[in-house]
Amino acid sequence: MSAGTARETSNQANSREQGRVLVVTDEPQRVASLDALVRAGLVVVGVASGAAAIVALRKSRPHVVIADTNLRGISADELTRHVVREPEGVPLILFGDMEATAERRHATLAAGAFDYFRLPAELALLLARTEQLVKLKREMDRLRAEADRDYLTGLANRRRFRTALGQELERWRRYRVACSLLLVDIDFLKRVNDTHGHSAGDSVIRHVAAALAEHSRDNDTAARLGGEEFALLLAGATEPSAFVAAERLREAVSAHEVEKVGVCTISIGVASCPAHATSERTLYAASDAALYCAKGEGRNRSTLAPALSSSTAPVL
Ligand code: GH3
Ligand code: MG
Ligand code: MG
Repeated sequence: MSAGTARETSNQANSREQGRVLVVTDEPQRVASLDALVRAGLVVVGVASGAAAIVALRKSRPHVVIADTNLRGISADELTRHVVREPEGVPLILFGDMEATAERRHATLAAGAFDYFRLPAELALLLARTEQLVKLKREMDRLRAEADRDYLTGLANRRRFRTALGQELERWRRYRVACSLLLVDIDFLKRVNDTHGHSAGDSVIRHVAAALAEHSRDNDTAARLGGEEFALLLAGATEPSAFVAAERLREAVSAHEVEKVGVCTISIGVASCPAHATSERTLYAASDAALYCAKGEGRNRSTLAPALSSSTAPVL
């Protein structure tokens, strides 16, 4: 492993399956002793400064950060504060050549790092602690992803949708980046359930979910809000392109029959920020009002939001 540049070292090809560790040190002899991490099957990214670590934290998404207490530029204390503040909750371990006294370890924990070890004497302990924390972080990531996902369709759930909506509106407030919200409701699903059974209704829900997933780009959020209601949050999309996207989605749903059910349709309400609203609540309300119109006008259609009346805004 080289500490001079951000370089990945691993003894296996598939880094998605492996634990990822970011090592921050500019001392070559420490880097050599940390090769034990690679031999333990971890993917190690090495950087030589706190500033490079902050960039690498985003780029290589490590499960654990291991940092030298003796850093030039951004200090280990500053790096610790930065890592602790990050919402990902990446555990940080510190190491150095000073003795791991109770006082030093206590101060390390108080600052928000997970441990301090003296190298090279305590390399085996550092390795054991790293492996333990990699395991813990991966489990945390798995549970977090599961908590954000709808069990029937695999789409984002309402919780994740609310976070994404908040983030998109924040992007509008800070950088004036537009976004659009499509609220989608399956037409006559009750009739499908009554005629073909509940599991046929579930197939229709999954069919619509697949179309939403297919029509969303990387930065968009396709969510099942509950029952037979969905949302597609389009990042950076203004009113005209959002309407085109809605029509494409609607046509895609009815283009293929659902097994044992036949053709199903959806109705879509379309609202954009800033064309119709500039807050989470009013954007949702505008899209919801448009969906209500689409249903009233006969279903199987996309309707653009009317002028918003705040008194009719539902609570998200
Ligand atoms: P509309 O065109 O007005 O939306 O009619 P609809 O029948 O789709 O709407 P309504 O609100 O009257 O009924 C919603 C139906 O969706 C009733 C409910 O049983 C069904 N539903 C909600 N969640 C699920 C689910 O998870 N699985 C199945 N199979 N059905 C569901
Ligand atoms: Mg409904
Ligand atoms: Mg419905």
